[in-house]
Amino acid sequence: MAVKVGIIGGSGLYDPGFLEGPRAAKVNTPWGFPSDKITVGRLGDREVAFLPRHGAGHKIPPHRLNSRANIYALKRLGATHVISASAVGSLQEDLRPLDVVIPDQLYDRTRGRDSTFFDEMTAHVKFSAPFCPHLSGILAGVAREKGYRHHPRGTYVCIQGPQFSTRAESQEYRRAGFDVIGMTALPEARLAREAELCYATLATVTDYDVWKEEEVDVARILDNLKKNVAAVRDILANAIPRIPEARDCECARALEGAIVTDPKRIGPGLRKDLDLLIGKYLK
Ligand SMILES: [Zn+2]
Repeated sequence: MAVKVGIIGGSGLYDPGFLEGPRAAKVNTPWGFPSDKITVGRLGDREVAFLPRHGAGHKIPPHRLNSRANIYALKRLGATHVISASAVGSLQEDLRPLDVVIPDQLYDRTRGRDSTFFDEMTAHVKFSAPFCPHLSGILAGVAREKGYRHHPRGTYVCIQGPQFSTRAESQEYRRAGFDVIGMTALPEARLAREAELCYATLATVTDYDVWKEEEVDVARILDNLKKNVAAVRDILANAIPRIPEARDCECARALEGAIVTDPKRIGPGLRKDLDLLIGKYLK
């Protein structure tokens, strides 16, 4: 199957800017509409679908994102890979503002977010390595070649938001050894795994969190966001053509052996909603 890449644009990245022949696709899902219309276009011989995570005008806050609809919509458009662009705070001295980080681990501090497609049946996917190692490696390789200050691994702690952390929380995350802090990688990464998509995050540092700073300076964060967007676009445009056709990572078969529910107990309505995800395992 041809490689199709979904991009979820984070704060600051509302338009990929490099798609040829862009057209808008409005996609509905069993979980409602995604954050916005999805722009589908080409980058060389790759098909790309771009979704601005927070919708038009950055209207949807992290805790209100319909991540199930976002991930499902990209899957429905044929995406095999999803790259998530994300602005993060740094929890470590050597991860400086404007640095690029490709995290390899996640720590979940969200609550009450819908984080599975499998509410009415049981499936347990593996999640010990929450990001696709191959896709992450491609992003890190491009960042290195292009000379960006970057970090090819790190732990991303995902907080609930929309408020920033307290100082006590920020200091605790540092003690735990976490590297960057953001509000959006979860539940996206969980849902991408359930949808058997290769998922990687391209994070850019906007600031040191409140462990170091007197207070989070929103104006400076927004200023650094703008500076980071050029780097994110450049890395995406160079990484996407390098994604190979063959997927020999585990993401592509995450649901193999993971479905516990007796298929006879999966009714026609649920089967229809989930066919895109589990249909091939129920035949
Ligand atoms: Zn993968």
